Amino acid sequence: MSRSVLMLPGDGIGPEIVAEADKVLKKVNEKFGLGIEFEQGLVGGAAIDAADSPLPDETLEKARQSDAILLGAVGGPKWDGLPMAKRPEKGLLGLRSNLELFANLRPAILYPQLASASSLKPEVVSGLDIMIVRELTGGIYFGQPRGVRQLESGERQGYNTYAYTETEVRRIGRVAFEAARQRGKKLCSVDKANVLEVTVLWREIMNDLQREYPDVELSHMYVDNAAMQLVKAPKQFDVIVTGNMFGDILSDEAAMLTGSIGMLPSASLNSEKQGMYEPCHGSAPDIAGKGIANPLATILSAAMMLRYSLEEEEAAQAIETAVSKVLDQGLRTADIMADGGRKVSTREMGDAVLAAL
Ligand code: NAD
Repeated sequence: MSRSVLMLPGDGIGPEIVAEADKVLKKVNEKFGLGIEFEQGLVGGAAIDAADSPLPDETLEKARQSDAILLGAVGGPKWDGLPMAKRPEKGLLGLRSNLELFANLRPAILYPQLASASSLKPEVVSGLDIMIVRELTGGIYFGQPRGVRQLESGERQGYNTYAYTETEVRRIGRVAFEAARQRGKKLCSVDKANVLEVTVLWREIMNDLQREYPDVELSHMYVDNAAMQLVKAPKQFDVIVTGNMFGDILSDEAAMLTGSIGMLPSASLNSEKQGMYEPCHGSAPDIAGKGIANPLATILSAAMMLRYSLEEEEAAQAIETAVSKVLDQGLRTADIMADGGRKVSTREMGDAVLAAL
């Protein structure tokens, strides 16, 4: 069966890190006989320069036809002066909305080899492996009505609407239960059901869904407590599922527990399991072109792509094991040198992962 993957390197360090993930993907494609076909496309600032749009029609069409997208990063000072609608970030938002990528999966993994990179004590975080499943296309960031209005008193009032339909909750819940089933079989749903009706409904639907997943243990936690527990005892969590805004905040908090932004992959999926995979970091214009960026977050995003969109678990694990081996060998890009080790370039890191495969 032939599957297609669209590579969108984007801007800044994007092309450098995607080149390394490209090598790794092509190697596993051959080794495991995956039959993946690769396409390339333009997005973000690179697309603005070449085609005067952050998301050219040609790229969107290729994205629609693909099973999965691997994206580097977009943006940079060169395009910061453009009006909002023409900014590189619009390319990303356009892909998310056009492909209906409603489920954002962000693992926070702290490799034991990098435990001292975290600002928390090594015993609290060493071996940490959490998956945050965030609803990405609904909730208060999209709810209507919204705006700033003039009250009769003459005072202005800003307002937003926090709303979720049953369908929206059910579909993100399913993604989270499925993810928990593939991992440690524990799911914590984070809400504010003591204050917000929308999350009372959210909780009710999660409880309902649990009947379909009797092998997964479901618990509930208020978001304020979840924020505390993430820094107090983060290893209690396996999979966390939550709405758009709480997920935005908690996933950044969880990411920072690991201390190394260059190591964190992410996935955004739709209901057909088509997905966009990208590192959590941005285009790092300060180090672009220097050959020192860490390509591991992008390489690990490729592993997530094999797991979630292409259902090639063995190949996904092969990449993750290779990354762990390379860390065991003491190879480090500049951003993860806190503990010493042998400093390597972006390309050398990619080559080492290839060799470990
Ligand atoms: P950033 O993540 O690009 O960089 C923050 C810091 O982390 C920088 O010091 C950078 O050098 C470092 N860093 C990031 N990735 C690294 C890697 N792989 N290896 C080593 N060091 C790494 O965030 P920023 O500086 O706030 O944003 C820069 C640009 O990226 C902006 O234009 C922003 O809009 C854009 N951005 C894009 C995305 C995306 O494409 N998804 C996400 C965030 C920011």
